[in-house]
Amino acid sequence: MIARIGRSGPITLADYMADCLMHPDHGYYATRDPFGATGDFTTAPEISQMFGELIGLSLAQSWLDQGAPTPITLAELGPGRGTLMADILRATKSVPGFHAALTVHFVETSPVLRKAQAAAVADATWHNDVTTLPDQPLWLVANEFFDALPIRQFVRDADGWRERMVGVADDALTLGLSAAAPIDLLDHRLADTKAGDLVEHCPALSGIVQQTADKIARFGGAGLIIDYGDWQSLGDTLQALSAHEMVDPLEQPGQADLTTHVDFAAIAAHAAPAKYSRLTPQGVFLERLGITQRAQRLAQKLQGDARDAHIKAHRRLTHPSEMGDLFKIIALYPATATPPPGLEP
Ligand code: SAH
Repeated sequence: MIARIGRSGPITLADYMADCLMHPDHGYYATRDPFGATGDFTTAPEISQMFGELIGLSLAQSWLDQGAPTPITLAELGPGRGTLMADILRATKSVPGFHAALTVHFVETSPVLRKAQAAAVADATWHNDVTTLPDQPLWLVANEFFDALPIRQFVRDADGWRERMVGVADDALTLGLSAAAPIDLLDHRLADTKAGDLVEHCPALSGIVQQTADKIARFGGAGLIIDYGDWQSLGDTLQALSAHEMVDPLEQPGQADLTTHVDFAAIAAHAAPAKYSRLTPQGVFLERLGITQRAQRLAQKLQGDARDAHIKAHRRLTHPSEMGDLFKIIALYPATATPPPGLEP
């Protein structure tokens, strides 16, 4: 990377992130399974089966609410170890006709994680991106997928926007700023920012949201997008995690997980012709779907350490001081339908 930047000049943060995460030989996701206690981070489906169970029931009820069409696509973007989809399928087994109507489609670029997904879920079809998902009703889930997509960062100044670029100084990677220029795609941020503010832009987001929202609006379905972030991001949210510790994002390219906060306003901005639900904290969503009752049921069968871990997991998913508030959920759904249970128009 240092040699390449030395030859052809500084690269955008998006190009840097893309190489760090998905380079076929050295990329973080391309080469490992990063999840769990021994990995670098953990995610809601890895914390408790309750997360996937409730997501599954919300999707299946949404399918019933739209008249139980068949055949349908049940898709997941960035399925990790496949745990979420396995929990969704187990929890919806008894919904009459649902399994007969669906085929499972995974959008995943990492060969290592595709293997883990194949072990968790039988009979899935894999895609490199959303463009090849079938033209039919689409029920979709994406948990901690958008936060892994590469972003560009821009700092506003009196003469326009300066982009943060990854360059080289003293044989090490370093961040610098490009010359100021007007940037058309940031025109909508002129009203809510001032000189000195930093904004982030995810180049891949609009295409992914448009393609899936278009299928949902045309054929029926719904999309549940869960991630950490907020409505319109402001400031630098890029972070690198290695072995559950924060590290400098430039320090170990390809060895640390890089993520950013998701800008849900950008998702909403590309949802048409589908509608989008109110942005809802994960804790509120899970409580509405009955996670406390489900947790109590499961607790009856557990004792000792397993029971303590289960109670901790429930708290971790829902409590405002843990994942309950930081993580949010938004749904995409057809203009003729209601949002999936747990969410409001
Ligand atoms: N949803 C899982 C994993 C989240 S990690 C969970 O909740 O546990 C991010 C996932 O997205 C990984 O599976 C990673 O390989 C995948 N991913 C990242 N960027 C991607 C891209 N551009 N296209 C497809 N998959 C991607």
